[in-house]
Amino acid sequence: MEKKLIIAIDGYSSCGKSTFARAIAKELDYIFIDSGAMYRAVTLYCIRRGFVGKGILNTEGIINELNDIHIEFVYNPDILECETYLNSENVEREIRGVEVTSHVSRISQIAEVRARMVELQRQIGVFKGIVMDGRDIGTVVFPDADLKIFMTASVDIRAKRRFDELINKGLEVNFEEVRKNIIVRDITDENRDISPLRKADDAIVLDNSRMTVEEQMIWVRQIIEKKMYGS
Ligand code: C5P
Repeated sequence: MEKKLIIAIDGYSSCGKSTFARAIAKELDYIFIDSGAMYRAVTLYCIRRGFVGKGILNTEGIINELNDIHIEFVYNPDILECETYLNSENVEREIRGVEVTSHVSRISQIAEVRARMVELQRQIGVFKGIVMDGRDIGTVVFPDADLKIFMTASVDIRAKRRFDELINKGLEVNFEEVRKNIIVRDITDENRDISPLRKADDAIVLDNSRMTVEEQMIWVRQIIEKKMYGS
């Protein structure tokens, strides 16, 4: 019988984790959860409240208001995808912008923020049949996930992909700044004390520097079949 899986996809910034995770979820008719969107939504809340900014990080203020931050993923039938809501407001576009992106790694270092996000992520995971992407999904959120993939790609390729994505969204960005932000986020995510970005011992590495999404799907299909039906 087909087994419902929990699939954890971790890796570096702008590796195409969400695109890949979304494609897998679509194919299997699973729920897709972009855990980075949750940290981004918290960051947006903190920016608006003045808890984070250039040279500012009011950790106490953030912790005090953690219970006032409600994050949901709401299905939009027009685009056939879920969008991120912060306290009932659709923030999908705003959380992808440069400002949130430049502060999110500092917010996601805060232990209390992580504890709250992990709790929410695990609640979603009880249903199984889920693909979740992030930085600590295979190591912390679902250490018993049925399949763990750790994604990587060269910095230049990741910067180019992210740059193109932002330009296509109509945002004004500078390539060097995008590249620098990716490097800084990698370093911050890998070196934080709590749940740093690292490959789980039992994760399979996927370097997609020279792979299209379809090629990645061909690669993953056989792995998933083995997990579902045994070899
Ligand atoms: O995946 P995305 O680039 O949207 O994630 C934004 C940021 O959120 C990451 O740079 C990282 O600091 C944080 N994050 C995290 N743990 C996760 C997912 C994202 O710390 N599981």
